[in-house]
Amino acid sequence: PDPIHVIGGGLAGTEAAWQIARAGLPVILHEMRPLEKSPAHHTEHLAELVCSNSFGAKSSDRAAGLLHTELRQLGSIIIEKADEHEVPAGGALAVDRAVFSENLTQTLAQHPLIELRRDEVREIPKDGIAVLTTGPLTSAALEVDLRQFTGQDYLSFFDAASPIIVGESINRDVAFLASRYDRGEAAYLNCPFNREQYLTFWQALCEAEQAELKDFERETAKFFEACLPVEEMAQRGEDTLRYGPMKPVGLFDVRLGDFKAPENQQHRPYAIVQLRQEDKAGKLWNMVGFQTNLRWGEQKRVFRMIPGLEQAEFVRMGVMHRNTFLNAPELLHPSLQFKQRPTLLAAGQLVGTEGYTAAAAGGWLAGTNAARIARGLEPVVLPPTTMNGALFEFISSASPKHFQPMPPNFGIIPELAQRVKKKKDRYGAYRDRALTDLTAWIAEPQPLTQRVLA
Ligand code: FAD
Repeated sequence: PDPIHVIGGGLAGTEAAWQIARAGLPVILHEMRPLEKSPAHHTEHLAELVCSNSFGAKSSDRAAGLLHTELRQLGSIIIEKADEHEVPAGGALAVDRAVFSENLTQTLAQHPLIELRRDEVREIPKDGIAVLTTGPLTSAALEVDLRQFTGQDYLSFFDAASPIIVGESINRDVAFLASRYDRGEAAYLNCPFNREQYLTFWQALCEAEQAELKDFERETAKFFEACLPVEEMAQRGEDTLRYGPMKPVGLFDVRLGDFKAPENQQHRPYAIVQLRQEDKAGKLWNMVGFQTNLRWGEQKRVFRMIPGLEQAEFVRMGVMHRNTFLNAPELLHPSLQFKQRPTLLAAGQLVGTEGYTAAAAGGWLAGTNAARIARGLEPVVLPPTTMNGALFEFISSASPKHFQPMPPNFGIIPELAQRVKKKKDRYGAYRDRALTDLTAWIAEPQPLTQRVLA
């Protein structure tokens, strides 16, 4: 058979190429380094970890740990090598990054079915089966071609994202559901401030510590005056936020009575933070207009000062960085095939998942499906109750209008049949259900139904 092309030898591409070879098919893995440099990679090795050396929490009742456990069962090469080159890091799966990447490079280069080709792919292959895994720093030439292929609006190259919060952790006695001027369905949760609370919050925001932008990110950020970080807006003046993302007009908590009654005017909030529903089930909420470059610890400290968010659990912190990603809900099936060309697949940061382990998970799925397509089999999806399944179900079904990259988290997992109150027990129950369903799936993989492909 013709070889399958995997483009980009990062976390996702390395896993995808391995799964194709494991299925007994020839694969060409294209990696542009060291001929072309990326602004963040330092070596020529495959699966280089560009920043932290951690794959996240190990425990299987944590989101990252559950993903590790599932990937171990599925035969992921990235997790196998991470386990092999683990270094002590408390509860996290951290690795000796140099040995990890060198060993993966050697292992793939020695595989008789894998050709490691050092070249920059500047255009999407026109025919055959291919997997795109060029990551958050996809080279400029390929980015231009991708934009042409997908359409202008479906490829982002900068991620200015607001934090996302678990719905259950929001205090609904304080936050209220309403849309501005009562237009449409009450689709927002609103966190109201009185004047004193607002001034304290504003002060804290002005003084909070920012993360450093890299030079290439500073350059890109210049294009984004339209989505200024919330802390920068705060620094422009005491009232800038109250006339911007924290505008209180047209929002009133009807639980307090008739909003037109004179005696209720005192209840009108001085400022509001709005939260927009992120997923179909309403388990995740996005802070509207709160794109931020504050350090993660500072975000948690300052944003928990918002009335109703005192106990907020964050599944994704706000970030501002260079990040090329597709509008997956618009473009991809949950099998990671492009709707417009099912022999073309994508994985990794490019499809809007976040983090090393999620990239390996996407590589596993796209590689597995590329091999199945080559063999004339139907592509598969994993059970939605597993972290692997939930992640790709989410990115292919989220709202395309506000799509933001998503890390593994329990907010995207379907509810349990019976409610479990304590969080630790609930996460343990999610884990037990996921692993039971995965074991059954491995015994009998479920092809993607015709309904989904239609
Ligand atoms: P990558 O690992 O980046 O792999 C993409 C590969 O494609 C690269 O090797 C690149 O050289 C190659 N490539 C690009 N264009 C072409 C082309 N046209 N032809 C051939 N090859 C090409 N995630 C974390 O979990 N923890 C962190 O600490 C972390 N820090 C980050 C810091 C920075 C500065 C950035 C940009 C990202 C960070 N991330 C972090 C996100 C991280 O990029 C992903 O988690 C992970 O690397 C994504 O894997 P990937 O395979 O999608 O992309």
